[in-house]
Amino acid sequence: MGSTPDMLLIISAAPGVKSETVTSIPDGGLTGFILSVISAKPEKQPFYVLDLGKLVSLMDQWTRALPMVRPFYAVKCNPYPALLGSLAALGAGFDCASRAEIESVLALGVSPDRIVYANPCKEESHIKYAAAAGVNLTTFDSVCEVEKIRKWHPTCALLIRIRPPDDASARCPLGPKYGALPEEVEPLLRAAAAVNLAVTGVSFHIGSGAAELQAFRGAIAAAKSAFQTAARLGMPAMRVLNVGGGFTTGPQFDAAADTVKSALEEYFSDEPGLRVMSEPGRFFAESAFTLATNIIGKRVRGEVREYWINDGVYGSMNCLLYDHATVAAMPLASASNRGNPACRGGKTYCSTVFGPTCDALDTVLTGYRLPELEVNDWLVFPKMGAYTAAAGSNFNGFNTASILTHLAYSNPD
Ligand SMILES: *Cc1c(COP(=O)(O)O)cnc(C)c1O
Repeated sequence: MGSTPDMLLIISAAPGVKSETVTSIPDGGLTGFILSVISAKPEKQPFYVLDLGKLVSLMDQWTRALPMVRPFYAVKCNPYPALLGSLAALGAGFDCASRAEIESVLALGVSPDRIVYANPCKEESHIKYAAAAGVNLTTFDSVCEVEKIRKWHPTCALLIRIRPPDDASARCPLGPKYGALPEEVEPLLRAAAAVNLAVTGVSFHIGSGAAELQAFRGAIAAAKSAFQTAARLGMPAMRVLNVGGGFTTGPQFDAAADTVKSALEEYFSDEPGLRVMSEPGRFFAESAFTLATNIIGKRVRGEVREYWINDGVYGSMNCLLYDHATVAAMPLASASNRGNPACRGGKTYCSTVFGPTCDALDTVLTGYRLPELEVNDWLVFPKMGAYTAAAGSNFNGFNTASILTHLAYSNPD
């Protein structure tokens, strides 16, 4: 890792970034930058700030904690081009799940051997596209998929996606939908071998927003037994282990990294040529994005304060429903109304925050303590990069895709 100015140069030249303005901000300067963006927004539309310096420090953390595990960023988490381009410049590979995701990564100039097509159930036309594009690594967990890949992409290397034994505690478990059960591993390996497809390794996902990090250990143990099953069947030795996503930032990340490292040591130290990969989404995207929304309406009911903001559950805050997320809001005064509203008398009120659409479901916060706010003040939501804008809609004419993102570069620590 070079010094900070070098990294800023590299990131500024990254695909998806180089045609944009990147504002260098001092450590702790995010609020000041948000205020400067606000003062240039007379129409008070919501906006994101993507801190590219944060990406640099997250990649640095990853490389220090898990030097042997190469990250393939899961595009579905947030496909914003400057995010993809920066991660590409920082050396990441990519986990794509569809033709369009593969196209958007290839469009950055990333070579197809840095892509894993990590969707265990693919449309035939998308498999054909992957074959033509030279994407030669995918996952499977059904006999039906083996047949499709044989037909449309017979030179593709396969990873058998297994279901981790213990993934129920994750915020978004994936086990009910994906992953071979232990008794299905052997028949799946036989089905692939029978049509001369190469199964080069094992993948799994312990669930997104995982709480129980020991799930990594159980999954790595289960992967080892799939390696042993392949060997027992006389198949060519497996050499790829894909530990998937499920990583979060903060102290939880160090705990996850320690668990992965010690489980690799315990189960895979006798596999010398092993290539270990991963598919983190949330880890890179979540904390890099901050969302600023404007207060467009207010109602007072006794002691309760009710506010309307111009983004909501049908937009960025769809994460409340789909990702079972919780969000936090920080009040910020508008440029025309300077002064920190948090200090207006120091009193806070039990507050409700609604999104802009005419659906009562579109409620972002309830029973939330906020100071007295006014129309045209702003509410800022940190850590809004994971499973937010990616799944927002155009419902009621509030178009998530039109929310602009401003690029900043904070000093990585
Ligand atoms: C969604 C997904 C990921 C990313 O998961 P995170 O919890 O965001 O890290 C990785 N791999 C696959 C196959 C996925 O479906």
